[in-house]
Amino acid sequence: MVGHGLGMTAGLAGRPKLGGLPVPFACEDDGGALDHAHVVKRRAIRCALSRICGICGSPLTRPIAFIGSETEGLDRMFAFPPTHLECAHEALDLFVPIGGSHLGHAEPPLRWTLITTGGFDLVRPTRRGDPVAFHPNSVVEAELID
Ligand SMILES: [Zn+2]
Repeated sequence: MVGHGLGMTAGLAGRPKLGGLPVPFACEDDGGALDHAHVVKRRAIRCALSRICGICGSPLTRPIAFIGSETEGLDRMFAFPPTHLECAHEALDLFVPIGGSHLGHAEPPLRWTLITTGGFDLVRPTRRGDPVAFHPNSVVEAELID
């Protein structure tokens, strides 16, 4: 990708690092603990309610992007909170080639997907303790990333 990182979002640049890699806002708990493999539920809810990006933690702008596995894209249910489009590209460019447990996915997807949408709903779990999910209410564009 060309040009992202020069835009208005901070992207991953200012994020704390774990294992030499920047950790997304959604993967840090309020005490500062870092875990690439898990989305922190409180952060996910805060991203939804305050409309902030799960990668950089800054206010969202349109289009809103969601990143996840191909299956999440087909189901239109994402575990990772909404992000800036620029942040989504930056994160996928960084983490997809590496593989492993990143972007809140303990199980690395075979194929990642990136979708853009105008809006989304926060889906709260029916069982207490289960994670929240994000449902984009209309998909503007979808792309698969190997
Ligand atoms: Zn962002």
